[in-house]
Amino acid sequence: MTDGLDRKKEKVCLLNTNKQYSLVLFRADLRTFDNPALTSALKSGRPAIALFVLDEETNRPMGGASKWWLHHSLENLTMSLSALNTQLILASGDTYQAVLKLAQKVGINSIYWNRDYDAHAVELGHKLKNWAHSEAIQAKSFGSRLLHEPHTTTTKTGGFFKVFTPFWKNISATYQPLEPLPIPNALKDDISNFESDKLEDLALLPTNPDWAAAFQTLWQPGEAGAHTALETFIQNGLETYPEGRDFPSLKTTSRLSPHLRFGEITPGQIWTAVAKQGSHLTASSRDKFLSEIGWRDFAHHLLYHNPNLKDDNFNKKFDRFPWQNEANTNENLLAWQEGMTGYPIVDAGMRELWQTGWMHNRVRMIVGSFLVKHLLIDWRKGEEWFWDTLLDACPANNTASWQWIAGSGADAAPYFRIFNPILQGEKFDGEGRYVRKYVPELAQLPNKYIHKPWTAPLEQLTQANVKLGQTYPNPIVDHTEARKRALAAFESIQKAAA
Ligand code: FAD
Repeated sequence: MTDGLDRKKEKVCLLNTNKQYSLVLFRADLRTFDNPALTSALKSGRPAIALFVLDEETNRPMGGASKWWLHHSLENLTMSLSALNTQLILASGDTYQAVLKLAQKVGINSIYWNRDYDAHAVELGHKLKNWAHSEAIQAKSFGSRLLHEPHTTTTKTGGFFKVFTPFWKNISATYQPLEPLPIPNALKDDISNFESDKLEDLALLPTNPDWAAAFQTLWQPGEAGAHTALETFIQNGLETYPEGRDFPSLKTTSRLSPHLRFGEITPGQIWTAVAKQGSHLTASSRDKFLSEIGWRDFAHHLLYHNPNLKDDNFNKKFDRFPWQNEANTNENLLAWQEGMTGYPIVDAGMRELWQTGWMHNRVRMIVGSFLVKHLLIDWRKGEEWFWDTLLDACPANNTASWQWIAGSGADAAPYFRIFNPILQGEKFDGEGRYVRKYVPELAQLPNKYIHKPWTAPLEQLTQANVKLGQTYPNPIVDHTEARKRALAAFESIQKAAA
């Protein structure tokens, strides 16, 4: 793979003497609407070029599912920018080095980007500003990824927030949505003749096997898809969101998460669209939904102030937690990943994830709790699997949510809150619609047994064509035993801390 910046040297040298271009650096903001960096560059009156770097050198490499999304999102962005007479140059490698190379070759006099909040992005921002300063290049960065920027919000004592409710009170009371920026006017001249990697060179799509084939029928990556998802949700889901959002067989949540992850839409745009909704919606529906967008801000706030959140327990007590290292740990992890634990709601969730690249939030909590509490497997293993398989895998949301589930995070679920996978299934998937869809081998079982097939009389199992241990596994752990074991493990770290 080439970095796309080394070729056509003659042309590049010629251009360099002019030092005339504005450069927009795209990262997790793959949109043209409500994009302050792009708008400012295009308004500057100079010809603009755009750059996206697949940076697996200084960033955590994306998981497979995210890469699939990225491919299609970049495809869309290339077309949208081309309509603005702005070329998207693709490259791979270290982002900072790629910017420097491009600047040297084409000659830029200004650089624009939207800020991001993980450690690499923050460091890159500093490096770019220092470099730009030393080269007399104008550098401008903007906040648009969140409702609030993590460094602008502090507690009364000047620290960062560790609890969601006061955080959200603080943000939502003062948040003044700006009218989203329109798509900027196209530049007068088309300057799309710079060398670039081809999208295929980035090798973002799976090939052999093509495990993502079904994603195409389920998702519409890109800015247009993001706005369709928002409209659909406002029409069909928002009103019943507070009650409906916990039922995985209903399409009551927005499914905006991958669009938000790649910045195809801003939370500000979502806020503005939702706040405009009329009286047929109760305020509680709007508030509940917006507070979930608030959890996303909270996760980024935590990540910004705790850059090692992916690796380090937020609550240091958990450094002593006795995670399982027995011989069967890998077997159990595999059973969980493959949706073969013998607990139907857990298995349905893990299979939904594999088949669709997404999992319903209620079920993410159930499967997460099952991994760390029933199986006592380190939350980092769950985080890694989600990172690889989720289309919305997000450095902030994924890490903060896994720590929340494990009990090691900020404002976390208490460790003794151990989700009972049978009761959770019965409560939120009472008729087993979700389980029947993703665990078809249980589809014929009556509702009474759909979440605990091992309790069904043999006759019922036979009628439903279920052979436990053959067509569907027996539970890999006993719920009551696993619960006791988890509580004992938790008590051990409490005692050690005392
Ligand atoms: P909606 O209910 O429509 O919510 C709207 C938006 O609010 C979401 O798109 C998301 O951006 C945000 N949001 C909702 N719930 C949360 C939450 N609990 N924490 C942070 N933001 C939230 N979300 C991700 O975007 N990426 C992840 O990698 C991710 N990993 C998770 C891992 C675990 C173990 C758990 C329990 C949750 C995780 N979540 C993650 C949070 C949540 O499950 C998803 O954001 C949500 O299911 C996405 O579906 P939706 O867009 O329909 O959500």
